Amino acid sequence: MKRTLKDIDVREKKVLVRVDYNVPIDVNFNITNDKRIVSTIPTLKYLLDENAAVIIMTHLGRPKGNVIPEMSLMPVSARLSELLGKPVKFFGGDCISVQSKKAANDLKPGEVLLLENLRFHPEEEGKSKSGKKDEVAMETFAKELASMGEVFIQDAFGTVHRSHASTVGIVKYVKDAAVGFLVEKELKFLGEALENPVRPFLAILGGAKVSDKINVIENLLNKVDVIIIGGAMAYTFMKSRGISTGTSLVENDKLDLSIELFKKAECKKVNFLLPIDHIIADKVDFLNKSIPDNAVVKTTLDEKIPDGFMGVDVGLRSIDKFSEVVKSAKTIVWNGPLGIFEVSEFSKGTIEVAKLVAERTCKGAISVVGGGDSVSAVKKAGVDERISHISTGGGASLEFLEGKELPGIASIPNK
Ligand code: AMP
Repeated sequence: MKRTLKDIDVREKKVLVRVDYNVPIDVNFNITNDKRIVSTIPTLKYLLDENAAVIIMTHLGRPKGNVIPEMSLMPVSARLSELLGKPVKFFGGDCISVQSKKAANDLKPGEVLLLENLRFHPEEEGKSKSGKKDEVAMETFAKELASMGEVFIQDAFGTVHRSHASTVGIVKYVKDAAVGFLVEKELKFLGEALENPVRPFLAILGGAKVSDKINVIENLLNKVDVIIIGGAMAYTFMKSRGISTGTSLVENDKLDLSIELFKKAECKKVNFLLPIDHIIADKVDFLNKSIPDNAVVKTTLDEKIPDGFMGVDVGLRSIDKFSEVVKSAKTIVWNGPLGIFEVSEFSKGTIEVAKLVAERTCKGAISVVGGGDSVSAVKKAGVDERISHISTGGGASLEFLEGKELPGIASIPNK
């Protein structure tokens, strides 16, 4: 068990907190979704109640080691100040400048300082100014950051799968370190689902590619009782079983692997469910996520997809079949949409499953949803409040489901 915020002494200390404020910002510098900021407020409020001086570190976007004014954290500092109901000190420019260090040094108990975008420094991601891999530069940068505080709190779940100066390097140079409330909650829900699930344990996986989720499927086959595969991923599995898939997205180089995964599911006695009918279209405008005017859209009678058509969503009979297993599941992990849900006509499968998972959660099941698209889907279905846990880290939650060690978590000492 990792050391958590309440296990360490933060009272009146200078506390460095790594958060993930990589939020969407529009051309007028408005934050269009502040969930990532909101979800760190409990940790920050606790620290302020403990009279800590709080120094916040984050990245925003992919400036790749360059100072890009559009990726400044200035708009984030304004929103954070509103949410905390107190001023947030912020200096544009260099996060380890003399000015930033002086501000950190002068910071009083109960005050908040936000450092500028860490990724304006290539060293944050382990590179030198010339863009080459440079561990020494990363260590030096980590040390500089650490010099501004005494204690480190890891609350950036969206970034814990990265081994960076502010997620791993920094820990060596502070007196104490722990995970914050946001990361603690992620570890509790994802960890308990995988290590100690109440059974039956159901995984629902969708999305575009088998190749992105092979490791997740492999790992989950050791843990779950039932797995539902939807989205474009399903067609590769179907084709490997000799079922016609028309022009659906299929990864032909993953057919053998799909057969292996079926075999593994059989050996492990995992009920492996694929769609039994589909919504199909002869054309889709993938660029604009829309249906071209002259496109033909219909539903298949069974699992076969005719020539010239591609699967775009699961059909009603599949939803019924999936609903049976959702209704008896006691732990549900879901990652990835079951169709091209960005097109409203092809979003029914994903939205219905979101509703079913929410209903089942109301009846006592634990549900964990991760991945940007599934999170948007539960919101679109209006059921996000009823899911037990919505993960704040797409990539990090996938790596967790793969059973990988996350460097930003591994670096934190155990209790
Ligand atoms: P992922 O990032 O792997 O979770 O994939 C999400 C993407 O998969 C979304 O943009 C969906 O539109 C896409 N997707 C889901 N089902 C299909 C499908 N049947 N055909 C093509 N793309 C799909």
